[in-house]
Amino acid sequence: MTGIEHYRTLLLDSSFRPVKVIPWSRAVTLDFQNKVIIVETYDRFIGHPSYEMRVPAVVALKQYLRYHPFKVRFTKRNVFLRDGYACQYCNERFPSVELTIDHVVPRAQGGRSSWENVVTACEPCNHRKSDRTPKQAGMPLLSKPERPRPSLHGHVVARTVPDQWTPYLGQQVTA
Ligand SMILES: [Zn+2]
Repeated sequence: MTGIEHYRTLLLDSSFRPVKVIPWSRAVTLDFQNKVIIVETYDRFIGHPSYEMRVPAVVALKQYLRYHPFKVRFTKRNVFLRDGYACQYCNERFPSVELTIDHVVPRAQGGRSSWENVVTACEPCNHRKSDRTPKQAGMPLLSKPERPRPSLHGHVVARTVPDQWTPYLGQQVTA
């Protein structure tokens, strides 16, 4: 990482489950307000000579949070992560450059771009399925697509995942 403005902090709830990603400056404010504890830090200092602190990498809320707003971002990469980088028609695993997003109900038939209607597909399968539903194409899906639950799957919410975050995001994080 380069400039300080690129640093991000992972916010956890009081049970150490990920809530969201916030700018480090917001994490420092929450710390000054005594609302969080600092769990992990980066090797980078901020502040004056008289007062120095490391940039927070992971902070946890002190107060119990009833509502759990953490949502996995709907991105191509997170769809691949959800599906284990495996084509949901032939079950082969591929590097992401050889994978595509398939609309289960094709957009031409009114299918939406949502967690429940997109799956990972290799190029040959996607091409073969074309503008048809799995049933019309005779290509059954290996699993029913769903919105991933972050507390169970630990999907990534940022483009880059610092080492300090990985213990708190679960096992599927591969970045
Ligand atoms: Zn395939």
